Amino acid sequence: MKLLFVHAHFDDFEVTAAGTFELWHRLDPNVERRVLICTDGAAGHHAMTREQTARRRLAEQEAAAKLGGFEFRLLTNPQGRAFREARLHASADFLPALWHAIREFEPDYLFCPPIPVDPLAGVHVDHLDVAQAIRSVAYMINVPHAFTPEYPTDETNSHPVRTPVILNTFDGYLVQGHGMDLAIDVSEVVAHVARLAWCHESQFREWLPWIDRHNLSVAPNLGAWERQFAGVLERRKSALGIQAPGLFELFQVTAWGTVPTFERLMRDFPGVSADASRLNLLRDRLTAWRAAAGE
Ligand SMILES: [Zn+2]
Repeated sequence: MKLLFVHAHFDDFEVTAAGTFELWHRLDPNVERRVLICTDGAAGHHAMTREQTARRRLAEQEAAAKLGGFEFRLLTNPQGRAFREARLHASADFLPALWHAIREFEPDYLFCPPIPVDPLAGVHVDHLDVAQAIRSVAYMINVPHAFTPEYPTDETNSHPVRTPVILNTFDGYLVQGHGMDLAIDVSEVVAHVARLAWCHESQFREWLPWIDRHNLSVAPNLGAWERQFAGVLERRKSALGIQAPGLFELFQVTAWGTVPTFERLMRDFPGVSADASRLNLLRDRLTAWRAAAGE
């Protein structure tokens, strides 16, 4: 089993899916977990230069990956350069780079940010760009010559590449326009995830309190941060009207890639909360999608 998380920024993994990945790992240590980040992180600070910020952010993500035992990759273009924030959609190489990175790993499940269904929803441009790019590239994952001009290979000797099931994560920037099928109860690992997030010091203790968009104050110590981090998950529950006890990571299954059976999801995913998830709606949707596709 291979899990791939694709998102815009250093720290996005820790606030949306790290608990689920950790639960999966505890159930089966053979599960491969890779986190792919699409921007260099240079823009997000108020007191360091772009170069200093990028270097520090990279070191913070590497520290979190080491602590969490997952693999971390920074997406680069065919020339080996990372992409800038707010310029993903303007980069001709972004789709080819994603295609190459996904094919190289060949995940069973791919997690990425959502596309808001409500045009009134606000967005973070990088989150939206990653979401739209994954949706756009999904069909091309098993098209072996799609980007051979950028990534040359033997075009007469192709092998099929499995297209993953693609799920959207929760996105704190949307405020509204969220969907949700699966609520994964991460209560037992939330302290661990808070420690991973604590590695991103320049974000959670400097930049995000400064930009003042996320109800974050500067936590004086790890204990205070753990409580603050749990509060973030509590607010998400409220936003989605979830009454069930516990702390959850929230996902929605798309038809961008392979459409799974409901039974496969229930077999594979750890920690599914029957009370907090919307399983009947999910089952009906997957059945309808698979019937429409003749499966
Ligand atoms: Zn982000």
